[in-house]
Formats: sequence, C-alpha cells, structure tokens
Amino acid sequence: MFVTLTLLFFRLPTIMTAPISVSNSDLSLLANQIEGELHYDNTMRTLYATDASAYREMPLAVAIPKTEADIKTLIRYATEKHISLIPRTAGTSLAGQVVGNGIIVDVSRNFTKILEINEAEKWVRVQPGVVRDELNMALKPYGLYFGPETSTANRAMIGGMVGNNSCGSNSIVYGSAREHTLEVKAILADGSDAEFKNIQIGDYQNLLSSAKSKNGSATLLDKIYLKTNEILQSPGNQEEIRKNFPKPSISRRNTGYALDMLLHTEPYAHADAQPFNMCSLIAGSEGTLCFLTEIKLNLVPLPPKTQGLVCVHCDTIDEALRATIVTLKYLPHAVELIDDYVLECAATNAEQKKNAFFVKNKPDGKFPAILVVDLSRETTEEVEALAAEMTRELQEANIGFHYPLLFGDDTKKIWSLRKAGLGLLSNIPGDEKAVAVIEDTAVDVYDQPDYIRDFNEILKKNGMSAVHYAHAGTGEIHLRPIINLKTREGHQQFRMIAEEIADLVKKYDGSLSGEHGDGRLRGEFIPKMVGEHNYQLFKEIKKVWDPQNIFNPGKIVDTAPMDTFLRYEADQQTPEFKTYFRFQDQNILQHAEQCNGSGDCRKTEMSGGTMCPSFMATRNEKDTTRARANILREMLTRSPKENRFDNKEIKEVYDLCLACKGCKGECPSNVDVAKMKMEFLQQYHDANGIPLRSWLVGNFSKMTGIASYVPWAYNLVFKNAPLRKIANRVVGFHPERTMPLLHNTTLKKWYDKQKRGNSTGRKVYLFCDEFTNYNDVEVGKKSIMALEKLGYEVIIPNHAPSGRPQLSKGLLKDAKKIAEENIRLLKDIISYDTPLVGIEPSAILTFRDEYPDLVSDDLVEEAKKLAQNALQFDEFIAREIELKHISKDRFTKEKKLIKLHGHCQQKAISSMVPTKKMLSLPENYNVQLIPSGCCGMAGSFGYEKEHYDLSMQIGELVLFPAVRQQPEEVIIAAPGTSCRHQIHDGTGRRAMHPAEILWEALV
Ligand SMILES: Cc1cc2nc3c(=O)[nH]c(=O)nc-3n(C[C@H](O)[C@H](O)[C@H](O)COP(=O)(O)OP(=O)(O)OC[C@H]3O[C@@H](n4cnc5c(N)ncnc54)[C@H](O)[C@@H]3O)c2cc1C
Ligand code: SF4
Ligand code: SF4
Repeated sequence: MFVTLTLLFFRLPTIMTAPISVSNSDLSLLANQIEGELHYDNTMRTLYATDASAYREMPLAVAIPKTEADIKTLIRYATEKHISLIPRTAGTSLAGQVVGNGIIVDVSRNFTKILEINEAEKWVRVQPGVVRDELNMALKPYGLYFGPETSTANRAMIGGMVGNNSCGSNSIVYGSAREHTLEVKAILADGSDAEFKNIQIGDYQNLLSSAKSKNGSATLLDKIYLKTNEILQSPGNQEEIRKNFPKPSISRRNTGYALDMLLHTEPYAHADAQPFNMCSLIAGSEGTLCFLTEIKLNLVPLPPKTQGLVCVHCDTIDEALRATIVTLKYLPHAVELIDDYVLECAATNAEQKKNAFFVKNKPDGKFPAILVVDLSRETTEEVEALAAEMTRELQEANIGFHYPLLFGDDTKKIWSLRKAGLGLLSNIPGDEKAVAVIEDTAVDVYDQPDYIRDFNEILKKNGMSAVHYAHAGTGEIHLRPIINLKTREGHQQFRMIAEEIADLVKKYDGSLSGEHGDGRLRGEFIPKMVGEHNYQLFKEIKKVWDPQNIFNPGKIVDTAPMDTFLRYEADQQTPEFKTYFRFQDQNILQHAEQCNGSGDCRKTEMSGGTMCPSFMATRNEKDTTRARANILREMLTRSPKENRFDNKEIKEVYDLCLACKGCKGECPSNVDVAKMKMEFLQQYHDANGIPLRSWLVGNFSKMTGIASYVPWAYNLVFKNAPLRKIANRVVGFHPERTMPLLHNTTLKKWYDKQKRGNSTGRKVYLFCDEFTNYNDVEVGKKSIMALEKLGYEVIIPNHAPSGRPQLSKGLLKDAKKIAEENIRLLKDIISYDTPLVGIEPSAILTFRDEYPDLVSDDLVEEAKKLAQNALQFDEFIAREIELKHISKDRFTKEKKLIKLHGHCQQKAISSMVPTKKMLSLPENYNVQLIPSGCCGMAGSFGYEKEHYDLSMQIGELVLFPAVRQQPEEVIIAAPGTSCRHQIHDGTGRRAMHPAEILWEALV
C-alpha cells in the first residue's frame, strides 16, 4: 500500500509553467529590443530542444544575448508574458537541465571573457561562457589552476559547472565547483543586480536587521536573505536537514538545494565555521534561482609535475571496488574505473582502440575491469616508489593481475579512453542505448562494493545489465542500464529502475546525484531522498528567489514525471529508409540517433583535434556535429513529407559542414556526419534536381580531362586575376579564390612515355587519381620516381577516377558506378604483395571509407578486400620500413625541420603516424606535427562563394599562423592537395607532398 501511494505521489503531474501564448510577432518585437540574437524559427528551436540527456522539449525561442542589458530585457519580457528563461552554456547536462519550453538563453557565445586574474590572492573573475580547460590554459603562466573538472572539461563552461556544481575524476583532491565559487554577480528575477560572497557574521546580522526593518519596502534581495535565515535558524528545520541529507562522508552530493552546506556556516554552525555565503546555494541550483553574469573562482597551485597512472587490471568490478579502498591510502589524485564493456566498445572505435594500447586481457581472453589510480607527485621517483608499494599491497591482498604504470603522453590516452566511456556506449547499434538514468549515484566508498552488488541484483532481477565506469575513488560509479526507450516496456524500465535505485541509495544514505544534478530526471525523487519536510523548504527557497517561476522552472522543485518529455516516445516506430549508403547494422536514422549530445564537437581549436571546424570558427551551436545529427534525427522522425530528406531545415544546418570526416575519427559515438551529408544531398537532389555548381564539381574529372587538351588556354584564364574572377563568379566560386592550374601534360601521359627497364622489383600499382593526374603532376612524377629508385616496379593500372568529387557533392549514384567499376577493374590484381598505392589521401581513402558501404551487395566482400590493400603512399613506405625493405642509408644526412599538417580524412581513417615515420627516415630530419585541425578547404568547400570567408577563418585558427611563423628553410608538408592549395592561398607558402620530400631526400 505504502509503495503504491508513494508511486502515486511521485507520478502526480505538476505544473511547470503557464501555457505559452506568445506569437511570432511578439517575439519579433522582442528581437528588436535586444542587441544579441533571438531565433524563433523551427530549425533553431529544434537544435535547442535537447541537451546530453534523454529529454526533449521544443523551446519557444533561443536567445543569444550580447549584453547584460539583453538579459534584463529577457527577464522583463518573461515576467510580463509568464514564460520562462533557461540559462544555458555548452548544453552538456545529462539530466535535462537545459531542456524546457521557454526561451533558451545561450551565453556560450558572448559571455566568454576572463575578466581578472589575481595571482597574489589566487582568484579569477570570469563570465559564465568561459570553457573550463581554456581557463586553465590562461592560468598556467601564473602557476595557478581551477581544480574541479568534468569529463567534458574541454567544452563545459564555468556557468554550467557552477549551475550543476560539477566535479570530476580529481574531486578527491579538489572537490566540486561549489567549494571554489567565491563570489558571483547575478541578475535576480526582478531584474535587479546582486552580488553574493562571504559575509562576516557581524555584517550578516546587520544585513538581516536592516532587511527586517524595511518591512513593506524590502527588496527582493532582502526577502531572499530573510527567508533563508528563517529556514536555517529553525531548530526543527536544522534537525530535518541534518537527518535527511546524505551522509557527511559523501563528498559528492547534488540533490536539491544545498541547505546542508549553508547550515555549516556562521551563525548556524559553531563559532569558527566559514562565513555565510549564498554562493553555496547558487552552486548546483541549475539556473533556477538567478542568472549568473560573473563568477569569481578560487584557484590552487598547478597539479604536481609528474602524473603516473597505475592501471590495476582486475577480474571483476567487485574486485576493482575492493581495490579502491586499498588505493585511497596512497592519497591518489583520482581513482577511476573502466569496465570490460567500455573496453569492448573501445576495441571497435578507431580513436579509442589506439588509446586502449595498455590493456591486457584476462587469461580467459576476456576484457578485465581496470582501476586507474592517479599517483601524481613532483618526481618520477616518488611516483614509482608509491606505485610499487601500492602494487605490493594489492598483490598481497590477492587483488588484480596486471599493474602497468604509465607516464607522459600515455596518460593522456588513458584519460581519453576513460572520458570516452559514455560516448563509446552510444556505439551500440540499433534502438537499445545505455541510458542516463541512475548514472551518478554516490555512496560512501566503504559501502560501494555492497551497494554495487545490490545494484546489480536489481538489474539482474529485471533482466537488465549496465555499464560501470568512472569515479570509484569518491563512491560514484557511472552506471548506465541498456534500455530501448522507443518502447513502452523501455519507458517502464526507465521509471522502474530509477525508483528502485532511489530506494537503494536512500538505504545507504547516499546521494541520488553525485555530480550531474537533478534536472528533469531526478527532481521527482528529491522528496524521497531528502524527506518531504526538506523538499517543502526547497519550494520556499524557489518561491522567494523566483516568485513568478521564470528561471528554469520544473527543475529541483515541481518537476514533471521523469518519464515525460523524453526524446523518444513509447512505441515509437523507427521508419525504414532506402539509402544509397549502408549504415552498418542500422539505418541512417539510427546512425543519427547515436549522437547523445555529449558535445565533444563543441571543443575549440585550443583543445586540438579536427571536430568540428565550422563550430570552431563560428562558435555557433548550429554549426556543431551535434546540431547536424539532431536536425537529421528530428526531420527523419517527424517530417510530414513523404521524402523526409526533402527538408530545407536539414540543408540549412548541413550547409557549413565541410564533410571533413573529423567527426568520423573523433566523435566518441562514431557519428559520421560527412557520410550522412552525402546521403542527404543525393536524396535532396532526387527531389529537387542537381544544382549546376554541384554538377560541375562532381564532374571535375571529365571537365578537367577536356581542359587538359588545351592546358595553356585554361591556365590563361585562371592565371589572370580579372579573368579568373569572372570565371569563378560564373561557376559560383569566390572571386578571390585561386584555381589549381593544369600541368602541360598529364601524369598518365608522362608515365606512358617513360622508358622502363625490365624491373625485377616488387610490383606496386599506383592509383593515378584525378587531382594528381591533371594538377599535381609533379607530385605524381616524384612519387613514381621515388618508388622506382627504391626498387619497386610501378604500374598504373586501368582504373576509373576515385569518385571523391561526386561523393563530396552527394552524387552518390555516379560515385557508386565509379566505385563498382574500380572494384571490377582492380579486384584481381590488388593484394597484400601488390597493393594499390595512392598519392592523394582523399582519393585513395574512398576505397577504404566509402566504397564498401556504397557498392551493391554482391561486391561488398570484394570491396572490403580491396580496401585492406589500398594504401596511402606514406602508409606503404612505412610498411616497407617496418619490413626492413627500406633503410635510412638511402637518404641524405642533411638536417631539415619539417612542419607537417595532417589531412582530415587521413586522420579519421588512418593516422599521421605513417607520414611521420616516412619523413623521419632521413636520420637528420625532424618532423613536427602542426596541431591544426581542418585547413578549411575540404575539397570544393573553400572555393564556394558563400563558404570562402569561413574557409579562410578556419585556416586562421591554427594552421596559417603556424605556417607564417616558420622561417623559409623549414619545409611545410601536407599530403592533401586541397590543404596545400589552402596553405598557399592563406600564407603564400608552398607546401610539399611528403612523397616529394622523400624523393628529394634520396641520394
Ligand atoms: C559525456 C559526459 C560526461 C560528463 N562528465 C561529467 C563529469 O565528469 N562531472 C560532472 O560534474 N558533470 C559531467 N557531465 C555533465 C556536464 O558536462 C557538466 O555538468 C557541465 O559542467 C555542464 O556544463 P555546460 O556548460 O554544458 O552547462 P549547461 O548544460 O549548459 O548548463 C548546466 C546548468 O547550469 C545552468 N547555467 C548555465 N549558465 C548559467 C548562468 N549564466 N546562470 C545561471 N545558471 C546557468 C543551466 O541552466 C543548467 O541548469 C558530463 C556530461 C557528459 C555529456
Ligand atoms: S555528434 Fe558525437 S561528439 Fe557531437 S554531441 Fe553527438 S555524440 Fe557527442
Ligand atoms: S564532417 Fe567535419 S565539418 Fe562536418 S560535422 Fe563532421 S567534423 Fe564537422
């Protein structure tokens, strides 16, 4: 009976906001009143309808304010119209904190300043849109550090970290955002400014007396202080708070408003307690109390210089949790769990497979559970001594079977693997997903083994399993059951598991949320976790801060049932789509659904990597990989059109996608937007016809082939700036963009004319791609000559062009014919011993990347076989070096510095390691990778008139400045033809293909 009543109580629908009655013309008036942007079109609203959680609700509009005055205007408007405002930064919340039906106020673009660094007093003042990792980059020269982190630290912003009271792996040492939030400036619900900071006891009492004396004229701020004091000074409330909040030994606690923290301050705690500071309550309040505009953070010295990670390999999760208790004695900086399931997923992800290099399987061949223990100290010796002692103790306790200790660059790989845990789980093909529902419960570390045993019992009883990873050292394992939320049964499981685990957490006096916050997911359970009495206190808090309920309503209090407003509806059908590409074990919609909103694609150029160049340049959510997955998912799910691809919304959001493949290599969920873009374009062309420019680009090979009969005439036009500008305009290219010129011969003609002896060398088939054949003939010649000089017999076989231009423009029907022709022509001659070697990465990699998913079913196996033996020039040479067929004595001893810019597709499908290996063959060549992402050209993208500016902006992020810094004698290397062209247009420097460098180094 009790259970039933409790369930009924929790399931009661609650009113979140008044029904919205605001028209577009009202919104257009509002748009005119702010300096920033207000979007109320379907596309932008759709892109902001989700975060990284399972929730979805269409907002009324999206505001990108520019000034604090804009925020005040929005507050005034929300009050007048009875609508809500949802403050948002990177939108990586996992519990639906930034999903709501009001106006989403995104401060991630214009509130990004670090305002003041005080080295002596160790603090920094920032705007809410400062990215956590970027803050630490700026603090490094001062020897200072903002401690709390999240797995999302390369894109999560300080406003969101304070909003959610975030913390991460290192919370054992640094705690959470709350402990470091010294002061905030905020705008209150009545539009007034407020500052919150430490108030010494005397000042606090004066403040309260003054507020009390004002009676009817008390300000909102006065009322907030009076109500808080009224709540905290009541002995009955104090007892309830002390009794019902999580155990004090649990440092991670994000359930409800942190009244327990305020109770630890003066005058409510003993005399030498910390001064009262409202920041403790604001941190973790999820944007429900006020709008933060400035945050002053406490800083600490930089972490110890030497990070050493002991990766304790255990047979079971239980063993790893017992190991945790042992490791804590050694005062680690972090103790993190990676379970066997995560390792299994990593083995199928291109990026993470490399990061899992240190993993040793159990004797039965199965993946272990790994406990990563961070023993950071000042010196290597200290770390080694500590690691040895800890390993000995673990061995004596019969815990673990392998204990590698890793330093330096290897640690980055391990953290990257650990952080990708969640994303990797999205690789599960199909509708079943690892769902965020009870993923950050926290209990006392000593209770942890029992708690997890009970937890797994509950799952087992319900026929479910979960993935376990993360913060074992602080009693918080991320557990995600696999659920199909597209079914009614899945929805029931979602609720049932949340209810049962809430009871279990309460049994251990734990915290239902240890870091991710309540949001829409856990708000419903707050009364269960802290007791009805305390919940009513939360409601009083909310009421006094936000009387009209305009700030992020429905979070922390009055939350709608946790199984409403889900991204997927119960009994939602996954429609079938006939596509040109195969999407492995699922369809294109399911592929788009792999995006869980984690926002890795919001990282900036300062974190390195390629994904996502358009966002890096514009800092616009609409230009993220996530936006592209979101819009496709929405349109393919909900479009009323018969051809659901035929949507202008998709076209608009995909327009700035460079199809660079950065996401294919770097999105932890393997979302391949370039592939989805190609598919979408073909489907869109099917409905709307092929635009002239796309047709011309797609037929690059044919057009250039014709022009190559009269190269002088073609070059006359494109060497002459005024003529080129006219020609560019006609085609739809930007007038400022130079065009690649034609060589006076083609590579094939040159090759045919060469006299060859009867070579006895190993045979290599050269793929004479369309770019090298017509434009980069010199590169082609040098590649052939280098191979021949190294003793290989080079044969250009009969083959078709690569199909890359067709693919880039979504002409998949044509590309498919080309792919099939190439497979038929090459399948019988290409093998491991006689590989197909390509010069231009984007061309040869079509054999590996697109062909197997594009060709008809009967050719798939042949396509896969061919893919295995289709190598880039540098991959082939690197292989031959390893086989000791090529040695360094064939090369110059001259000293050279080479700065290497990687091709995006090469980085995604292969890696830059072979290029580095090849170029390092001459013993005095020093090869350094430029930490650039995409160059910005990406095939024809950078030529196109509407994309030229963005293309150059992307180049300016890292690549151009890095190239400009290099003295003339430094060689700039770039395997991609587009990259070399872009480098030339952006910096005036000539970049060389690595094969050219190799040829010139041969003696
Ligand atoms: C893969 C993955 C891993 C994660 N790992 C961790 C982890 O290790 N530790 C952890 O703590 N969290 C983690 N999270 C959750 C999330 O990344 C963090 O909570 C992060 O700090 C949120 O930052 P954000 O910029 O995305 O904030 P958002 O999601 O945009 O906002 C977070 C909250 O802050 C509020 N807010 C934002 N700006 C303001 C403002 N100006 N004024 C008032 N309120 C504001 C919002 O309303 C919202 O309630 C993870 C999420 C993902 C997807
Ligand atoms: S596209 Fe990938 S990286 Fe971006 S949010 Fe989605 S899952 Fe995360
Ligand atoms: S292909 Fe490149 S530009 Fe397009 S979404 Fe992926 S990373 Fe971004």
